[in-house]
Amino acid sequence: MTSQELKEKLSEEDIRTLLTRDMGATIYYEDDDIWITETVCHHGKKAKLYYYKDSMSFHCYTECGQMDIFEVVMGFKGYEENEFQKSINWICIKLNIDNCEYGFGKQEQISDWEFIRNYKRKHKKNVAIEPLKPYDENVLRIFKKWFTLDWINEGISVETMKKFNIMYSTWQQKIIIPHYDINGQLIGIRGRSLIEEDIDLYGKYSPFKVGRKKFYNHALGQNLYGLNKNINAIQRKRKIMIVEAEKSVLQTDTMFGEDNFTVALCGSNLTSYQKGLILMLGVREVIIALDKQYETLDSEECKKWAKHIKDKIINPLSPYVVITVLWDTNDLLPYKASPTDCGKDTLLQLMDSKIYVDTSV
Ligand SMILES: [Zn+2]
Repeated sequence: MTSQELKEKLSEEDIRTLLTRDMGATIYYEDDDIWITETVCHHGKKAKLYYYKDSMSFHCYTECGQMDIFEVVMGFKGYEENEFQKSINWICIKLNIDNCEYGFGKQEQISDWEFIRNYKRKHKKNVAIEPLKPYDENVLRIFKKWFTLDWINEGISVETMKKFNIMYSTWQQKIIIPHYDINGQLIGIRGRSLIEEDIDLYGKYSPFKVGRKKFYNHALGQNLYGLNKNINAIQRKRKIMIVEAEKSVLQTDTMFGEDNFTVALCGSNLTSYQKGLILMLGVREVIIALDKQYETLDSEECKKWAKHIKDKIINPLSPYVVITVLWDTNDLLPYKASPTDCGKDTLLQLMDSKIYVDTSV
């Protein structure tokens, strides 16, 4: 049996059992299309792990990005990438599926490595070549061209909001953020909630739902938000600044206009697809400008955050480009703020003291 066959063998109930009984997750929301549970993939507490029934795929909107059930288990159990077969064993034992005891006995072990290679190759290929299906622009007609004072107060001009086609949903009280790919095609819509209870439960950002069936979700990891608008500045300057959220792209647009070279990862991980996009642009320098996920520089939290950035972003890119990092050594930003949140002067100060990553060690 291959991992794909095992995956196809798993029913929705099996997945539910694994999540709720074996990983201790709670399903906070369920409809015909999705479940929302807490992020057991990285032992998080927030309800930001989405399961899409159609495609049988997961998306962790905090850290991990798009995953299948094996990858969720790997995250939950803390297995390394080369311990993939352990996640299969774990699932088989939990669900009492026999004849798939990978890693037991010599013969299985050989086919084991064989299918891991297959799995990896297939996995990578899927990410690289499967294009996102663009949506019909007409869906945006249900939203209003209203611009909330909240964002204007946070340094985003009306001109910028018009440029990025930011809109407002009156009945869901959400700021609507259309996502366009590098060719300017609509590939997803995210809503930024203004209701506190929604923010607590689902996080600030969530995919947008219209009616019962249409769920304007897309794999956020298969795009860089803002690239369609900022590609000229990026290629002219041969540098790119990567931030976490769409809002930072909008703030820097208001600050720098046509000279803006910022794009958003829509998370704090760099996917291999995003890495490919960045390298394709031919940039010499990548400036990492993620949120300040630490209160003080000497805290454990700060060390953990630095390690995360090194493992997930610096290491994959450092063989190819110069890497610099905006690091708030002078305590200019509040906790959890983005480097773009406190205005142009603060951002320029942070950029002046950016840290060059020595990748020779
Ligand atoms: Zn996760």
